[in-house]
Amino acid sequence: MITRSSSYDVGIIGAGIAGLAFAWAALRRGLRVVVLERDDRSDGASVRNFGMIWPMGQPPGPGLKTALRSRELWLELAEASGLWLKQCGSLHLAHRDDEWAVLQEFNTTAAADGYQVQVLTPEEVLTNAPAANPQELRGGLWSRMEMGVNPRTALAKFANWLAEQQECTICFGQSVIKAETGRITTEQGDVIDADRIIICSGSDTRTLFPEVFNRSELRLCKLQMLRTPPQPDGWILGPHLASGLTLRHYPVFQSCLSFPALKNRIAEETPELDRYGIHILAAQNDRGEIILGDSHEYDAAIKPEDKAEIDELILGKARKMIRLPDWTIAHRWHGLYVKHPTQPVLDIEPMDGVRLVTGFGGAGMTLALGYADLNWKS
Ligand SMILES: Cc1cc2nc3c(=O)[nH]c(=O)nc-3n(C[C@H](O)[C@H](O)[C@H](O)COP(=O)(O)OP(=O)(O)OC[C@H]3O[C@@H](n4cnc5c(N)ncnc54)[C@H](O)[C@@H]3O)c2cc1C
Repeated sequence: MITRSSSYDVGIIGAGIAGLAFAWAALRRGLRVVVLERDDRSDGASVRNFGMIWPMGQPPGPGLKTALRSRELWLELAEASGLWLKQCGSLHLAHRDDEWAVLQEFNTTAAADGYQVQVLTPEEVLTNAPAANPQELRGGLWSRMEMGVNPRTALAKFANWLAEQQECTICFGQSVIKAETGRITTEQGDVIDADRIIICSGSDTRTLFPEVFNRSELRLCKLQMLRTPPQPDGWILGPHLASGLTLRHYPVFQSCLSFPALKNRIAEETPELDRYGIHILAAQNDRGEIILGDSHEYDAAIKPEDKAEIDELILGKARKMIRLPDWTIAHRWHGLYVKHPTQPVLDIEPMDGVRLVTGFGGAGMTLALGYADLNWKS
């Protein structure tokens, strides 16, 4: 049963980062909000990620602006809700000449494009990130903008904090089966009136408006991830670390004239990395665990089983990039997200007053808070 009221200004479906971001945006505008989540807690992509707030991955212009607005909001949220957040920055490491060439070229225009970055010599890299593997290290690109949260606890704290607000109701275990102008119906038989409805159902493109999703060109992506136990003796990773392989994953580096040589070399040397969309990122959470990933398999290539081969490739490349005191893998999991081939987010109105917002791809933690704020529609 929906308790406080069954009539709201805004009804939100999904309590992942996108749904909670829109709930907060509505509250800041003085509106009464209900959030309906199918599971007993947020259990989708929003709790399965690295917890990286990663403006560096966004292209200059609206993408970077949205990420930087998110950054401000994450800081405000952490202060208000008490969720753990670290302003750790990031370092892209170059262990090959072509990787170093891309980083240096990117750096020449980065400041003008709004990125707060600096190239570092190998000695400077090791001072800032002693975990970097010094063997064949050419240098690195330091960015001060990135931050880390622990997604498993951050989403729960965010939801609890929102639910404490007088004008917000969050209902877990409520599966929505129908959304139409002004009205939401749940599987449990509740009917909720809401002037505006925002559907943030993540990778569930089947339950509501399946025909709209079928036409949307959204692609489903599966990512494999690994996590160590807490590292011993309070060992600190420092900034989030990214490999040279990561340069082919984010579009920001792809306009560099030196980029094709890097891309072609990796395709020739290690086609298996391209086949599984593997690049290496490493983050540390508040428990001292190291989160390592990831891979990208799309649509028909996605199988229920995880591939041991992918984990081995990730670990092999991670060992070339960093040195950890403890390489034990305590947890392995995968996550799913949807992504549009050309748009940063799918934001459409399939019906009057019903808005569908999903498809943040690999950047929902980085973009959703800012996106909901900058794209609020009255
Ligand atoms: C492995 C992995 C690593 C990633 N790393 C990062 C990172 O470090 N930084 C970053 O910025 N991004 C990262 N991402 C991307 C980011 O996690 C996603 O973009 C983001 O979490 C998507 O949020 P969402 O709210 O749209 O979807 P979700 O988190 O999947 O939430 C959707 C919610 O809607 C609910 N729902 C669906 N249908 C219904 C219904 N009918 N009724 C009620 N509830 C419903 C679901 O139960 C779910 O809880 C990563 C993603 C993955 C998978």
